[in-house]
Amino acid sequence: MRPLIVIGNWKMNGSLASNADWVKTVCRGMEQGMPSGRQYAFCAPFPYLSQCGQLIRDCSLAFLTLGAQDVSAHTTGAYTGEVAASMLKEMACKFVIVGHSERRQLHQETDELVAEKALQALDCGMTPVICVGESADERNSGREVEVVRGQIAKQVAVLQDRLADCLIAYEPIWAIGTGLSATPEQAQSMHEFIRGRIAGYDEKAANTLRILYGGSVNPINASQLLVMQDIDGGLIGRCSLDANDFEKICLAAASVFTTSTH
Ligand code: PEP
Repeated sequence: MRPLIVIGNWKMNGSLASNADWVKTVCRGMEQGMPSGRQYAFCAPFPYLSQCGQLIRDCSLAFLTLGAQDVSAHTTGAYTGEVAASMLKEMACKFVIVGHSERRQLHQETDELVAEKALQALDCGMTPVICVGESADERNSGREVEVVRGQIAKQVAVLQDRLADCLIAYEPIWAIGTGLSATPEQAQSMHEFIRGRIAGYDEKAANTLRILYGGSVNPINASQLLVMQDIDGGLIGRCSLDANDFEKICLAAASVFTTSTH
């Protein structure tokens, strides 16, 4: 059984006032009746985690939780500007995105660093959301599978059996923020490949590990993506900024037919 999960990634957006409106709107919508067996979370910028944690507690919805967008690969010490996993845990974070393509591209994060960050999150009892995915050039030259295979292999090498406690997000870079989502078939095919690779190391983990799709998911395409056999949820960028759109995507996840795996 792999419960569907929808996670919003606000990126560097928000304000004290707009965050409060967002959480209140989403909570009001969810109170109208979200089925159990689904999970919803959003990853806010570091300075807003405390506020957002309090806002969630105020609306007391157990299935809406909080995450962060990055974490330090170090535990504590002289790392100016970095934020330790233990600090995120104290802010009530349940999830931490690691290896988002924006961090890989803009901050030269390597697969090894991403895996170290995932370990930090795991050691503090949080779930890392490990992002993988190919660029447009890599897909256009037919190398998407090779690229993702390499990214997964590096995570397995460091995380080993702890990968079972992570989430993987397949986010083709060409689909992020472009309005051009992967088709359900393209996404399913890569998700199936990822699950197959993990099964090569650990069959049991492969069956339970949730693989999220991210890349221009919106209220219109969400159900077609989420219904696919190996798509266990969505990582939502742009459409998570609008509370009504996010809620519609959560509703799409809520209404996806419950199969033996979802
Ligand atoms: C993301 O940045 O993780 C993402 C999926 O963005 P968008 O939904 O805007 O494509």
